[in-house]
Amino acid sequence: MSAPLKIGLFGGSFDPPHLGHLALARQARDQLALDEVRWVPAGHPWQKAGQALAAGAHRLAMVTAMVGAEPRMVVDDVELRREGPSYTIDTVEALRRRLPGATLFLVLGQDQYTRLPTWHRWRELLSAVTLAVAGRGGAPPQPPPELVAVWHRIVVLDLPPVAVSSTAVRAAAAAGADLRALVGDAVAGYIDRHGLYRGTSPGDLPPATARS
Ligand code: ATP
Repeated sequence: MSAPLKIGLFGGSFDPPHLGHLALARQARDQLALDEVRWVPAGHPWQKAGQALAAGAHRLAMVTAMVGAEPRMVVDDVELRREGPSYTIDTVEALRRRLPGATLFLVLGQDQYTRLPTWHRWRELLSAVTLAVAGRGGAPPQPPPELVAVWHRIVVLDLPPVAVSSTAVRAAAAAGADLRALVGDAVAGYIDRHGLYRGTSPGDLPPATARS
């Protein structure tokens, strides 16, 4: 009988995916000996409501380009196909139904760890997964005050600081900078070909998929 699967769930807006995301996913996969890191682009990231996002199809294509031929990494469009806000607990419960017995790790950076107590049904989420948290900005992960007294499973990922964010990539793209050192050749080529993040480009923000 084979051992139960160890799956890393890696959600984000990925607008666009960058080399910090890739470093985090690789670190989680290798440090935790995961069978699979599952990248899940958010369909309707309620936390970024009011902020315009590139179309889901673009973000999915960019994550697919980023993951490329990386061993033990897959892209999951479940949240892009789901109506309504993208709640991680719904994704976790769906995965649990599909893969009963799997151990689920939720891979995230410090900024999302800090916000976790604002997430939908966060207490249930904490009992369903092990958090795999990386520091951001060079500091080791710290629990937000609400989580200090709440039991949860957490492993700290030994990720060296990677000073890149999607915000910085969008700004660099708008300024016409070379993006390859931030997102790699494949994603830089995609952004260039589709004219994403150039400010007012309609290809960037189709009204049907801009966030409400
Ligand atoms: P934005 O700048 O638009 O807020 P972002 O760069 O934080 O975006 P997200 O798609 O929101 O990217 O992040 C997805 C996940 O990856 C989050 O858990 C976030 O903490 C983590 N993450 C993103 N960039 C880094 C990084 N450089 N180092 C460690 N974790 C990161």
